[in-house]
Amino acid sequence: MSIQKVRAHISQNEALLFERSSPGKRGYQLPGLDVPPVDPAAALGAENVRVEIEGFPEVSEVEAIRHFTRLSTWNYAIDYGMYPLGSCTMKYNPRVNELVARTEGLAWAHPYQPEALSQGAMEVMARLEAALLEITGMDAVTLQPAAGAHGELTGILLVRACLEKRGNPRKKILIPDSAHGTNPATAAIAGYAVENIRSSERGTLDLAALEQAVTEEVAALMVTNPNTLGVFEENIARVSELLHRKGAMLYMDGANMNALVGITRPGDFGVDVMHLNLHKTFSTPHGGGGPGGGPVAVKKVLEPFLPVPRLKRAGKKWTWNYKRPDSIGRVRAFYGNFGVLVRALAYILAHGGEGLRNATLDAVLNANYLRKKLEPYFDLPYPLPNMHEVVFSDDRQSRRGVRTGDIAKRLIDYGFHPYTVSFPLIVHGALMIEPTETEGKLELDQFADALVSIAAEVESDPDLVKSAPHSTRTSRVDEVTAARRPVVRWKPASTGSQAAG
Ligand SMILES: *Cc1c(COP(=O)(O)O)cnc(C)c1O
Repeated sequence: MSIQKVRAHISQNEALLFERSSPGKRGYQLPGLDVPPVDPAAALGAENVRVEIEGFPEVSEVEAIRHFTRLSTWNYAIDYGMYPLGSCTMKYNPRVNELVARTEGLAWAHPYQPEALSQGAMEVMARLEAALLEITGMDAVTLQPAAGAHGELTGILLVRACLEKRGNPRKKILIPDSAHGTNPATAAIAGYAVENIRSSERGTLDLAALEQAVTEEVAALMVTNPNTLGVFEENIARVSELLHRKGAMLYMDGANMNALVGITRPGDFGVDVMHLNLHKTFSTPHGGGGPGGGPVAVKKVLEPFLPVPRLKRAGKKWTWNYKRPDSIGRVRAFYGNFGVLVRALAYILAHGGEGLRNATLDAVLNANYLRKKLEPYFDLPYPLPNMHEVVFSDDRQSRRGVRTGDIAKRLIDYGFHPYTVSFPLIVHGALMIEPTETEGKLELDQFADALVSIAAEVESDPDLVKSAPHSTRTSRVDEVTAARRPVVRWKPASTGSQAAG
């Protein structure tokens, strides 16, 4: 009998849970009631009582466990291999952070607990604030925002509030063309017009273009430093002066702080307001929509406008201060994603100052190691000294009809998660690679070997790359239709179509 004819016990084509269902099976057993039974229809109204959910799968506990465990082995995760995604800084999250975050008093702390019972949790936040101020060189920080994009919005609302208080909120935000999409989205949501600033031929801020653009209408410039090519904006102090001379502010997108921690501080090179991505730089696990942390750090001028409540020392105790008349108000329920804050502090304390600095140096070393290994095989359109990430273009490969997305898909066959595809937009067919400091030489060598091997395949057999991946259950899907018209509802087989997604 050929292997295709065998109905394998465990297969890589896991059936849907619905297909394993058989009527009457239960995955649980509940103890008898120790209170008098209530008629649900009498208590809730008959129209609210459901007798059955159509098509709901009925399986045993072991069937449910095995089904989901099998599915979980199809997921790529940072515990499985490296994530070379640029911009996103997907570093390994040390297990000790999880241990600390699960400490009973922290994990079970409730935001409605009175201050007297929350002193430990408040101390954690106060210490994290102090550490972030030391790292950024700023004067005050709020831990409330839930992630980077939320931090951006908070930061630009602070700028608006401050300028409004001075008499004129102004009209425009300047944003370089290499920026992350959340920057212009933020500016627009905060009620500003966006003016794009073309990058110089070197891929960095163009001082002359900027000088022209900075008028009394400009509220702020939003800049990522190092920029999305991984290149440090060497004129950043002059850029800050230029803005300040016209009464505008400098916002720094801190998503790339993994290249700066322990080396240089935004507060020292003229930044007025910035966000940090705790889930990027400070190792909290992210992806899949998990919680993040987007603290916003500011200079003194913006401090009065920070969200309420603010931590305040009252003798030996911490207390929450809500009496801040200039505050923009709350941006989030309670005090931020507390578990993320705990992990970030655990990470910072475990490393210490010297350790954080070493992590930065290793991140820069790893990115440059990959750059040197891959430079002979891929075009590097902006050959400036880069820090923690490197951006190639697919120019050479596209002459054979192979694009960055094809190379990324082929990487999956080699067992790697793809790099960031087609970002930043100033690079034609970008391959954006950020290994982070948590990868060792063996992993980096294997990753580089995979890309070098794919570069050779592009020459010898471009169709092989263009039709990748070949090792996965599904290969190319129609990404546009999947995004625009997702089908996520399962219909019983009798009515025709099956689940799709
Ligand atoms: C990730 C990222 C953001 C957005 O941050 P989130 O935490 O995902 O909201 C903004 N700018 C840059 C450059 C980024 O890499």
